[in-house]
Amino acid sequence: MRITFNQIIRSSLVHKRLKSTAVTSKMHVFTQKRNPITGSTEWDVQHEDYDYHQEIARSAFADMLHDTERNKKYQRALQLAIEKMHDAGKKANVLDIGTGTGLLSIMAARCGADTITACEAFKPMAECCLKILKMNGVADKITVIPKRSTDLTVGEGGDMNEKANILVTEVFDTELIGEGALSTFYHAHQYLLEEDCIVVPDSAVIYAQVVECPTLQKWNKLNDLADEDLEVILRTPQKIKDCAGSAAVHDLQLSQLPRIAFKELSDQIPVFYYDWSGRSPVDRRRTVKQQFTVSNTGRAQIVFMWWELNMDMEGKICLSCAPWWTHPDADLSSDRPQDKIPWRDHWMQGVYYLPQEMTVQKDSEVSLVSCQDEYSLWFYLEDEKTKYRHYSRPICECGVHMAISRTHVSYLNDGKRSKRFLAQIKEDLVKDATVLDFNGSSFLGMAAAKMGAKTVYILENMKLNINILNDYIKENALENVIVLSELTDEVLEKVTNVVCDPNFSSAILPWENLKVAYLLHKYKSKLKDSVTIVPESCEFWAMPVEFKDLHKIRIPLGTCEGIDMTMFDSLVESSRLISDAEIEAQPLWEYPCKCRGEPRKLVELQMKDLKVTYASDGVHPIVDSESQASNPVNGFVIWAVWMVGGKSISAGPVEWPNVGERVSWDMHTRQAVKILKKTKIVSNSDKWNYQVACDLENGHFSLNIDWASEES
Ligand code: SAH
Ligand code: ZN
Repeated sequence: MRITFNQIIRSSLVHKRLKSTAVTSKMHVFTQKRNPITGSTEWDVQHEDYDYHQEIARSAFADMLHDTERNKKYQRALQLAIEKMHDAGKKANVLDIGTGTGLLSIMAARCGADTITACEAFKPMAECCLKILKMNGVADKITVIPKRSTDLTVGEGGDMNEKANILVTEVFDTELIGEGALSTFYHAHQYLLEEDCIVVPDSAVIYAQVVECPTLQKWNKLNDLADEDLEVILRTPQKIKDCAGSAAVHDLQLSQLPRIAFKELSDQIPVFYYDWSGRSPVDRRRTVKQQFTVSNTGRAQIVFMWWELNMDMEGKICLSCAPWWTHPDADLSSDRPQDKIPWRDHWMQGVYYLPQEMTVQKDSEVSLVSCQDEYSLWFYLEDEKTKYRHYSRPICECGVHMAISRTHVSYLNDGKRSKRFLAQIKEDLVKDATVLDFNGSSFLGMAAAKMGAKTVYILENMKLNINILNDYIKENALENVIVLSELTDEVLEKVTNVVCDPNFSSAILPWENLKVAYLLHKYKSKLKDSVTIVPESCEFWAMPVEFKDLHKIRIPLGTCEGIDMTMFDSLVESSRLISDAEIEAQPLWEYPCKCRGEPRKLVELQMKDLKVTYASDGVHPIVDSESQASNPVNGFVIWAVWMVGGKSISAGPVEWPNVGERVSWDMHTRQAVKILKKTKIVSNSDKWNYQVACDLENGHFSLNIDWASEES
């Protein structure tokens, strides 16, 4: 299951819950919520079980159950295991660890298992599972135990009468072992399983490939900031350049990375083998060093990682998460091989940034050092000259990898955009300019200082961001930059130029970047009339789309492998309503979609002429002509466009979308997505509608967008 950086931020910071606060009713509690637009903490009334509902609503469960390849291969291997036991004259006693909806247990029942015990650590899922079993008439065949497998007891009066001889389990994430698979299997073999048991899956292999990929390196390392003439404006502090970075895996849809964006420096290297069957032990910690011949001269920056499951003992059923260029089932002669291999979001591929870059020569020998602890992986690369004294897990020592999300680091490295901003700032700077920068998670204020401003004030109160700013100020010997946590009238009166990169590291949804408008509105009476402002305006746009796959993370299941899963659908649906997860942020460059109707502007804010409130609504036809109709629509995308120097900077499509064609999305930002519960085939008369309300006084923004007819 994928837990993104943003989800962690959301659950740990934004919705930090105050357990001790007064409960007003049985169902609602006051919670503290950080408003990303105002930056302040507000009280909010939320459902008592908000966190848990959000977890269900955002879990990748549904997508996993739409993964037909996974489901079918589990079923086939389970069938073989049960037959094997029966052929040997034994009963098939199945244990299903982490049963979720009960899917694998129901499959075991269908395959004729004699006894089935299913355990599930997440209580609401275990309850839901019971309902699904009843609904499908198999409740009497399966014993559900709402426990973690490591708490199960065996023997008379225990959770299981005797040990099982078949284990079926799917407790893997993108990193394979990130959900605790190692301890789950270790414990199961010690306490819950017969010696000669069969395990589905039987084993796994982790693969690694060393690559040069400047595009992805932008997500990891902050580059020097350069202007249009490629002159360096701000140097990145040495400490940041040298930082080994964050050890946490960067999970992404590697198959969507443009092929020209990376160069393979090694073949795929099998680095770790996992024998789940119990025949040989799996170490909780290990380090392996493997020499390989470099396949291309280049700069080794990154290790790509994916894994494969061998579902059966004979190794005939293989479930691979490889990207298209090494996928066993990919048709490399087809136009877009990535579109033809099974799609899944619950397992992606891993990107690991090497602690140090290294230039390697074709045909030379270098060593890949692969390290694994109980939950994670990391990598080092060595040659004759570069040797490490230890292979400890890299940790961030520069602050950037802790304070700034990967997406925001890539955004700051987006040279095309920053050059536009810098050119405009240069043009606007008056003699003896006093600059105010509202965004301490950007470099524009410091750049203005470098380009000739007399004094620069940067508003920032996050300690981690302030530290980074101070490192830049020191590295670039900026004497006229002052970081403030609050603005005084005295400062505001002096300001001649406001510069504000409209992408805050704290924002998740596009409109959370309206912090710039909120602050301008707040201080506008104190600012001079003649002040110049970058950016000039902000627009929000939307259009109907057809996602190739992304909709699968949200659409109801109905049935899955012939099993009625409507109980699960209603659990997710009610959690979605409670946790308000209707519109979510997604990096759409990873999720192909086609434009299915003209983009429309929803609302526009002029920074020089801000109003207290904005309200707009409208109805638009989905398609403008007969020829565009009769195609599927399964969602809407909403994005921001910022105007700088009369030119637009899109945080959405990088080129104007053409109806019927694939959209190319900005790689450095996330877009807002609304997924329809049902795919619609568009007729000429179909419409969509929207309502936007924005309150700059309080920093509130709300947006609804939907198919205009009722049954959506
Ligand atoms: N077996 C289901 C669900 C897989 S998702 C299917 O294949 O569709 C993995 C589930 O395992 C999650 O619900 C998680 O809560 C549960 N889980 C993970 N480790 C567990 C453990 N050691 N004991 C019990 N449940 C576990
Ligand atoms: Zn760092």
